[in-house]
Amino acid sequence: MENRRVRLRFAPSPTGGLHMGGVRTALFSYLFAKKHKGDFILRIEDTDQTRYVNGAEEYIINALKWCGIEPNEGVGFGDGPYAPYRQSERKEKGIYATYAQRLIDSGHAYYAFDTAEELDAMRKRLEAAKVVAPQYNAVTRQNMRNSLTLSEDEVKKLMDAKTPYVVRLKVPRNEEIRFHDIIRGWVVVNSSQVDDKVLLKSDGIPAYHLAHIVDDIEMQVSHAVRGEEWLPSAPSHVLIYRYLGLEEKMPLLAHLPLILKPDGNGKLSKRDKSGIPMFPLDWYDERTGEKYAGYRESGFFPEAFINMLGMLGWNPGTTQEIFSLDELVEAFSFERVNKSGAKFDPEKTKWFNQQYLRKKSDAELASLFLTVLTENGISAETAFVEHACRLLKEKAYFVHEFWKEGSYLFVTPTNYDAEVIKKRWNEKAAAFIVAVTEAFKNLNTFTAAETETVFKATAEAQGLGAGQVMQLFRVCISGVGGGPALFEIVELLGKQEIIKRLEKASASIPERIESKTTN
Ligand code: GLU
Repeated sequence: MENRRVRLRFAPSPTGGLHMGGVRTALFSYLFAKKHKGDFILRIEDTDQTRYVNGAEEYIINALKWCGIEPNEGVGFGDGPYAPYRQSERKEKGIYATYAQRLIDSGHAYYAFDTAEELDAMRKRLEAAKVVAPQYNAVTRQNMRNSLTLSEDEVKKLMDAKTPYVVRLKVPRNEEIRFHDIIRGWVVVNSSQVDDKVLLKSDGIPAYHLAHIVDDIEMQVSHAVRGEEWLPSAPSHVLIYRYLGLEEKMPLLAHLPLILKPDGNGKLSKRDKSGIPMFPLDWYDERTGEKYAGYRESGFFPEAFINMLGMLGWNPGTTQEIFSLDELVEAFSFERVNKSGAKFDPEKTKWFNQQYLRKKSDAELASLFLTVLTENGISAETAFVEHACRLLKEKAYFVHEFWKEGSYLFVTPTNYDAEVIKKRWNEKAAAFIVAVTEAFKNLNTFTAAETETVFKATAEAQGLGAGQVMQLFRVCISGVGGGPALFEIVELLGKQEIIKRLEKASASIPERIESKTTN
């Protein structure tokens, strides 16, 4: 094992859009593979055609691409030496049937002919006898119709008559099964708790338990990383490797902790209502007609999404929170993955986006914001938009908020915050606005520093504290009572526009007050 090449696979079933828990599994596998200069593989586990959902495979590929965690081998990313990477295609080649036959031949798997009704009757019988978790196992199989209870002749007859059957794993009674999980340490399970898992279904389709093992063996997978929900089946998997005589081929296991709801109560649902998406990209489920919002379409940066996911159940052991993908690769280890569930934090998720927003250059932000502006029918010079982005990014989480928060940088306001007007507009204040407009007219250069100085001097000359008129002044030029640094806005809008806006405010605010009181 020590000398094995590090090869990790992400092996989703295309049964729907890939939710963020799935992306985290892919991410952790990617990080470990890259850290150890190994391979990251995408295998599509699509043997269950009844659960196949159109578009899911493409979605998975696009999601991984958007996140920047691209496999170097597998479906959608170029075939490596172990193609094909879709289980449906591998089944065509008879890969799984060969392994199932090996288990049958060595007496570790058997045929079971029980019908759905017979299985149901067994379950009812066991429930009536107060068995807590009824299962097909070393004890109950003795009363069922399988190649262990039937004579060879009977089995042959049933086979010849094409009676449907499944192949089951023959799990021994009362044996200790021990395995090591990199995250959880040693796990010991008594085989009496393990059921005789179906390996091949009646239509000859391999079940997950067999198929993924065969593929992990054939694809030389060194580490299998998956969600905690798979932990209970791991003992069966250990037995399958053992019975195939290929225990040394078994990948090291890592079962990731669950992602919990924001309040810590239970597993995070894909229908979570915190307002933060649960899927990387918008997902439309054509079977149910359900729509799920995606991080991408909601304005998250992939770097922020990945950084947030990376911290969901893993920690670097330091206070550092911001990690680029390369830094995550560098810092990652399974030893620092928690055993217990990781609480999803919607606010923190937005915070991560904010951190990345602030780090972006004005030019990058401007190119994103220009799209929003165009949608709103605004055309503006790039330099102006870059400057606007510099001001707006301080308070925003997302680029799309720039428009909501700062449309006044592009359109002269027609409305003024009524609360502020009510509280701050009076004769003295109105006179101040006129005076400051006049003072601005005399300025030759119009920087934030100069306009602020003139503003303060004018207030002082009028016997007013700057604080008494600051917010009103802001409302006069922007319509709203809060926003980025005021004199930065003044500088950005420029002398002509500011004077125009102040004069407009001086003319229209008293009229509004008038019409309000007379109405
Ligand atoms: N196809 C399984 C799933 O979708 C893969 C589990 C595993 O990684 O072994 O969860």
